[in-house]
Amino acid sequence: MHDHRKLGRELELFGTDPLIGSGLPYWLPDGAAVRHALEEYVRTVERRAGYQHVYSPVLGKRELYEISGHWSHYRDDMFPPMEPGARGAGGEGSEQLVLRPSLCPHHAVIFRSRSRSHRELPLRMAELGGMYRSEPSGVLGGLTRVRAIQLNDAHVFCAPEQVGAEAGAALELIRRAYRALGITPARYRLSLPGPGGKYVASPELWRRSTALLARVLDDSGLPYEAVEGEAAFYGPKIDVQVADGAGRESTLSTVQVDFHQPERFDLHYVGADGARHRPVMVHRSIVGSVERAVAHLIEQHGGVFPAWLAPVQLEVLPVSDDQGAEAGEFARRCAELDLRARVSPPDRGSLGARIRAARLVPYQAVVGAREAAEGTVALRLRDGRRLDPLPAAEVLERVRGLVGAHRTDLWDAAP
Ligand SMILES: [Zn+2]
Repeated sequence: MHDHRKLGRELELFGTDPLIGSGLPYWLPDGAAVRHALEEYVRTVERRAGYQHVYSPVLGKRELYEISGHWSHYRDDMFPPMEPGARGAGGEGSEQLVLRPSLCPHHAVIFRSRSRSHRELPLRMAELGGMYRSEPSGVLGGLTRVRAIQLNDAHVFCAPEQVGAEAGAALELIRRAYRALGITPARYRLSLPGPGGKYVASPELWRRSTALLARVLDDSGLPYEAVEGEAAFYGPKIDVQVADGAGRESTLSTVQVDFHQPERFDLHYVGADGARHRPVMVHRSIVGSVERAVAHLIEQHGGVFPAWLAPVQLEVLPVSDDQGAEAGEFARRCAELDLRARVSPPDRGSLGARIRAARLVPYQAVVGAREAAEGTVALRLRDGRRLDPLPAAEVLERVRGLVGAHRTDLWDAAP
């Protein structure tokens, strides 16, 4: 395992500046390419799984979080309220806005923006959205402890009898994503409330939601541990834990069952019987925050990302200046197919030196005199394999197929 802060600097993926502030990293082009590929993957698998995407603002009135319970249970982690109207209007009674600590309240409000029928359930609402956490500056660093967070979040509003299937499907999405990302979970955890007052009180609802999640884990056949004191304030959760180089665990993905916020926001739907019923909210995140996910990917892979995530997917290497035009044309065709290619011209050094400089790039496409004349490309794979020259169109087709399928292997023996 590697230190993502050190590698992030060396590979020019992200940076920080005291003038912007600690815990507020910026993303450089290569880091942004990884992040964009990850976000696209998440949106695609969510769309295919029947999620609908929304956007909601990163701010909300204080009352919104008073209703959700964040204000009374989570205020220490929130930035203090802003009072934009205070200048003319004067303090008392003026509007207070806070940077949101989570997306759930906004999604609950969107759900109740019109009446809902049982036919719309399960209603799966997803957003890759910003949220904020007021961390003390001493604990901030790299991408793992930040004050501005981009969360891969979703809320499934469903009937009580649909909760088990929805939570199970969410867990399956997480497992599939980990396979595509090449991430190995450290363990699965059933996070339960512990002693102390930070949880909403409702023993019967805690019992029901805990039983549901335990059932999902039992049905999945995955080994897990139940741990007290790790639940959200509104309900228990399944946490997928990953470990860093020092063996420190953190939560990347979660599935939560929540009977509390539907009550607080008075959510309901019209059932088949024509009566009003209360939905349950399943909160789930496939990759957690984009920051923490990319930090873990950097540490896990040491910069050797799966091809579909790599900042540069193909390094195009003309052997001499005579092949410059063909190399440029090949890179242009890559770009047309949404493949990230970069030409490394001979003035950067010998072919061997340029190949070594591109050792993290999954595909190195060498174009010599013979390849240029025949319209072929001699492909070298990052793992050291060297392929016989193939027609450029075939290389493009096959690389695009592997990348588009989010494969972690670099090549198929047979197309
Ligand atoms: Zn939520």
